[in-house]
Amino acid sequence: MALIAILPGDGIGPEVVAAARRVLDALGLDLTFEEAPVGGAAYRAHGHPLPPATLNLAKRADAVLFGAVGDPEFDNVAREHRPEQAILGLRKALGLFANLRPAKLFAGLEDASALRPEVAAAIDMVIVRELTGDVYFGEKGRRMNGDARQGYDVMSYDDNEVERIARVAFETARTRKRRLCSVDKANVLETSQLWRDVVNDIHADYYDVTLTHMYVDNAAMQLVRNPGQFDVIVTGNLFGDILSDQASMCAGSIGMLPSAAINQDKKGLYEPIHGSAPDIAGQGKANPLATILSAAMMLRHSLGEAQAADRIEAAVTAALVAGHRTPDLGGTATTGDMTNAVLAAL
Ligand code: NAD
Repeated sequence: MALIAILPGDGIGPEVVAAARRVLDALGLDLTFEEAPVGGAAYRAHGHPLPPATLNLAKRADAVLFGAVGDPEFDNVAREHRPEQAILGLRKALGLFANLRPAKLFAGLEDASALRPEVAAAIDMVIVRELTGDVYFGEKGRRMNGDARQGYDVMSYDDNEVERIARVAFETARTRKRRLCSVDKANVLETSQLWRDVVNDIHADYYDVTLTHMYVDNAAMQLVRNPGQFDVIVTGNLFGDILSDQASMCAGSIGMLPSAAINQDKKGLYEPIHGSAPDIAGQGKANPLATILSAAMMLRHSLGEAQAADRIEAAVTAALVAGHRTPDLGGTATTGDMTNAVLAAL
């Protein structure tokens, strides 16, 4: 029996996680759930955004379903006690090096995209972003350059780091249209040249997947010009940070987009890409679909329940096709209404 750690967090986190939990319960799978506070809720109760008991549950569990953290009440506490630190702590403790961000435009939501409807309609991709290396984690500091103050951040990847993320990306492509585009800046950066060499080497194990390479500036352009050309994109931490947000907005509302961060053993933390949305918390206005779709990713990637994941995704599509819309999608459905519509379609 699989154990799921439920970490609802702050703001709309508990509302959307409760919705996803109802959907998981309705599937009749052999799952157990244990809940623990995280973020501001945990700081309030235990004086730390990621208390030992919460971290311990996340380590014991087969997968973590996470809502969102962030509470304006704690904007002025010391950085290490801010609610957002909980995510960094979990990523580090669980070794979550691969971030999977699907961006897909659901039928009927073409108007929610920042792109022209006919361009947006073709969006159906996954961005695989490396999450624990790159310029964010290299040597950094301030120094003097003659009379000028200088800041520096060192970009680096070693071949093991590139290989493990490349394998996740090739495997992901195998579950889809078998097309992988590796994004780098190999015309300028030595780190990117190594990245490209290693991805080419690993391709030998995945010849059923078509591999292409693209410079990051061109990728940013292609994402708005012709996003339908992409199936799976793999890229480093910095480029992925930017491109995955860009792809999200091309695909529509923030309330629709799930994500996963997984480790070597396919254990993962699954969460909507949105934050705790304090402006609408407690009003029943939150769109629960990003979290419900995150639960589907959890079933597929960590629990080997691809069929159940397909069922959830089909039910979300059906609810949207039937016209149910929360306020972020231009409708009046509450969080509960939308969840009921998904359950009815299941
Ligand atoms: P946000 O994603 O919480 O909200 C941005 C806007 O989108 C708001 O207007 C909000 O109402 C709307 N929105 C977000 N999710 C929605 C949903 N499911 N349905 C309908 N509308 C939705 O981003 P923010 O306002 O910049 O940040 C608020 C807090 O969340 C901050 O404390 C921030 O640090 C935190 N945050 C946490 C995470 C996370 O937990 N992974 C991610 C981003 C931001």
